[in-house]
Amino acid sequence: MKVLVTGGAGFIGSHLVNDLAARGERVTVVDNLSTGRRDNITAPNVTVYIKDVQDTPFMHALLKRGHFDYIYYLAAIASVAVSIKQPALTHAVDNDAVLDTLEYLRTQRLKIQQFVFASSAAVYGNLPELPKREDSRVAPVSPYAIDKYATERYALVYGRLYQLPTVCVRFFNVYGPHQDARSPYSGVLALLTHCLATNQPFIEYGDGSQTRDFIYVEDVVAALLLLRKVGKHTVYNVANGREISLKQIIARYELLTQRHVAVIQRPARRGDIRYSVADIHRLQALGYQPQWSLERGLAQYWGGVPHVG
Ligand code: NAD
Repeated sequence: MKVLVTGGAGFIGSHLVNDLAARGERVTVVDNLSTGRRDNITAPNVTVYIKDVQDTPFMHALLKRGHFDYIYYLAAIASVAVSIKQPALTHAVDNDAVLDTLEYLRTQRLKIQQFVFASSAAVYGNLPELPKREDSRVAPVSPYAIDKYATERYALVYGRLYQLPTVCVRFFNVYGPHQDARSPYSGVLALLTHCLATNQPFIEYGDGSQTRDFIYVEDVVAALLLLRKVGKHTVYNVANGREISLKQIIARYELLTQRHVAVIQRPARRGDIRYSVADIHRLQALGYQPQWSLERGLAQYWGGVPHVG
């Protein structure tokens, strides 16, 4: 199989790339390393282009000569907070660049087996219905979430109108190794892990009662592989299906690591979602079962993190 992974040096992308390469697939990555790292890709024989997906002449030439069977479109400005500060820039990457690839596939009639777009649980916003089903109402509350929703709709409609096999995945809160903790906008478990490992205080936005549905990154890769055998023009929640509050997760992580983290309380951030948990029946109907409980995932994650003291 010939596979293109945009954003393949990032957190989720690099796990996917390493897994696919280990299966003997021929993997090409496009990543501008804005948040990703080259050394996240540990598999040999991966072709890596340090390029911006907005470089359309480059992308077009690559798509034309690449003859890709699968395209995983993960490159994105993956931060609600950044999207609030720089909505137009976020839109250019998270929407325009994806649309350009879809348009090129359409106009050049390039044959692929599947185009997978990484959408987000953020599309659901703060509506009260829980758990979130793929057909639940959406109410995006940030430019990031609007772009994810608009782009997944484009991908699905391109699929139906132009016979492009497109699938969209709404990732909930993914965690695990390679998740960047350098930025204050990083995923909450990356930040919490970093604080526990370095004995630094953790900044909690809001009162800690906000809930999330955390999925270990290897379960995400398993879900993406499973989705190969199905699904055209469909959107899938990719999650664990379990809800946990930030306060609860801090307590559990402290127990697991036998450490204490000082918590500094700050007001909730604009654009943040209050309660989030997925209904994963659609994915389960394909045979998916999360293999990583939170305890197991956190233990594995923590085991690979160098810690002081
Ligand atoms: P990440 O930031 O680690 O990965 C994104 C990658 O895209 C990075 O390697 C970055 O360098 C690259 N990139 C960004 N802009 C680019 C550009 N213009 N050109 C080329 N490469 C570019 O984030 P992640 O957590 O691995 O997220 C992967 C995808 O999944 C994103 O689309 C994100 O929106 C989505 N997602 C992630 C989560 C999560 O919990 N991590 C949840 C929902 C959705």
